[in-house]
Amino acid sequence: MPVRIALDLDGVLSDSMGRWVEVWNSRYGHPRLSVEDIREWDFWRGLGITLETFNEVFDEVWREWVYLRPLEENIGEKVARLAYFGRVDIVSGRSTRHLPYVKSWLSHHKIRYDTIFLGVSSKSRLTHDIFIDDSPVEAVRIAETARYVLLRDQPWNRNVPKSKFIIRVRNLEEAIKKLAEEVFPGTLP
Ligand SMILES: [Mg+2]
Repeated sequence: MPVRIALDLDGVLSDSMGRWVEVWNSRYGHPRLSVEDIREWDFWRGLGITLETFNEVFDEVWREWVYLRPLEENIGEKVARLAYFGRVDIVSGRSTRHLPYVKSWLSHHKIRYDTIFLGVSSKSRLTHDIFIDDSPVEAVRIAETARYVLLRDQPWNRNVPKSKFIIRVRNLEEAIKKLAEEVFPGTLP
């Protein structure tokens, strides 16, 4: 069985929070936010808004996917290098309503993958071997199942508790390096 990698979308491939704060600032303007202000996973509570409003803004982020930037340059090429280790699935909690936007965005940025799973509420229930994610909540739950999470560094995941199964990475390049050196040593020629 090939290794299965669950690659997250928002906050790992796409700069969704960067775009979220842009939409927020233009729509509400107060308080004016930057990505660095987002220091908690459920930061929207601190804004005094409902989860519904948070999601409404997120809807706009994906509906207007042309404005959504990838978090890294040549992202398609980096995802292709990840596929050296096994099969790469895009796994996201994003609503299945966003599937056409997500697919357009991925194809626009030349990101290839095996299967796409949207609407996933708890990733630790999936059978993937490795996860690349930015969610501190998912990271802790996955680590509890003794599987590795490459945690994409973001302001909202810096307080995640230490675990040998949680490896912090700053970008996909570093994720590839950690996979080669720590998770699957000896895989790359
Ligand atoms: Mg994410």
